[in-house]
Amino acid sequence: MERRLIRRDMDFSRFKDRDYVRRLVEKIHRDYPGGRVNIMEVCGTHTMAIGSYGLRRLMPDGLQLLSGPGCPVCVTPNSIINASIELAQKEGVVITTFGDMMRVPGTEKNLEVCRAEGADVRVLYSPYDMIAMAESERDKEFVFISVGFETTTPGIALTVLEAKKRGLKNVSFICANRLVIPALKVLSQAEDINIDGYLCPGHVSVIIGYGAYQVIVDEYKIPCVVAGFEPVDILMGVYEIVKQVKNGESRVVNTYGRAVTEEGNLEAQKTMEEVFEPVDAEWRGIGIIPKSGLGLRDEYSEYDALKKFNIELKEAPDPPGCKCGEILKGVLLPTECPLFGTKCKPESPVGPCMVSSEGSCAAYYKYGEV
Ligand code: SF4
Repeated sequence: MERRLIRRDMDFSRFKDRDYVRRLVEKIHRDYPGGRVNIMEVCGTHTMAIGSYGLRRLMPDGLQLLSGPGCPVCVTPNSIINASIELAQKEGVVITTFGDMMRVPGTEKNLEVCRAEGADVRVLYSPYDMIAMAESERDKEFVFISVGFETTTPGIALTVLEAKKRGLKNVSFICANRLVIPALKVLSQAEDINIDGYLCPGHVSVIIGYGAYQVIVDEYKIPCVVAGFEPVDILMGVYEIVKQVKNGESRVVNTYGRAVTEEGNLEAQKTMEEVFEPVDAEWRGIGIIPKSGLGLRDEYSEYDALKKFNIELKEAPDPPGCKCGEILKGVLLPTECPLFGTKCKPESPVGPCMVSSEGSCAAYYKYGEV
């Protein structure tokens, strides 16, 4: 079995080395085939890193780095946000979630406003923290709003298993976790965007392994390159895609070998599969994608908050004027939204892409991307 772990004595400064960066940028320009090449960075952390290191400005004319649906908060549809708000307003219910979810606008308000109005809404660093709270406050119902991709889902699964092991009856989850590969399949077939290569998410790939992208290469002939998050990592990934486009190739390449293996983290995959099963799921801007979400298996259905509280998910439109849907598909850049930087800013966000710390609108605003 292939194993490449990050060593404690590893020198990470070389992944920011100025000369190495300069040489990679020169190579990208040298081998750039010309015309328009669309490379989608699938992960919100890549979007932030590209912005913070100013990498977009170093690209050749015509090479477009597009943000994809890799921000879990951003792709969570309004139906989930509204259901969370509905639950938050129930007597005796404590909503727990990650911090980024607090200011995502629902149709009428957000969770932060609910809390200001008296609802018990708590921000957690780990879903596991809810277990201790539920044990010590047995008179309350604790609901975790669970969003995230394969990176965070194993931790959610472990929390479900722990709740069952301890026999907790006052714990449940709104499961809005999503899977990356089904979304890539939909984007690869989309007629309104032509993607020439995917910069695949490093964190997710630690769990699913780089072998998981072979299906995208086989079915759609689009290069898939797994990359880390330092400037050298990202530029190596871009260079690999540029070379493949120039040579008319499509392959899976892993440039994040210090963290990602072909098969991924088998233990984490096993834990996820024990608790969850793939279900059809709604994505903001994309709609329903078959088998792209995760629902609790029958053995764990007592922890499904929507069933427990009889809450129905109802489709709801994005905020008026907000283009998050198009931005998450790579059809528009954040700066092409008419509200960007005017009505919509991080201190007064209209849509989730301006709220989240991984949102592309927030990244473009923070780093002055044009
Ligand atoms: S700038 Fe604001 S309103 Fe426009 S797409 Fe981004 S989040 Fe939505």
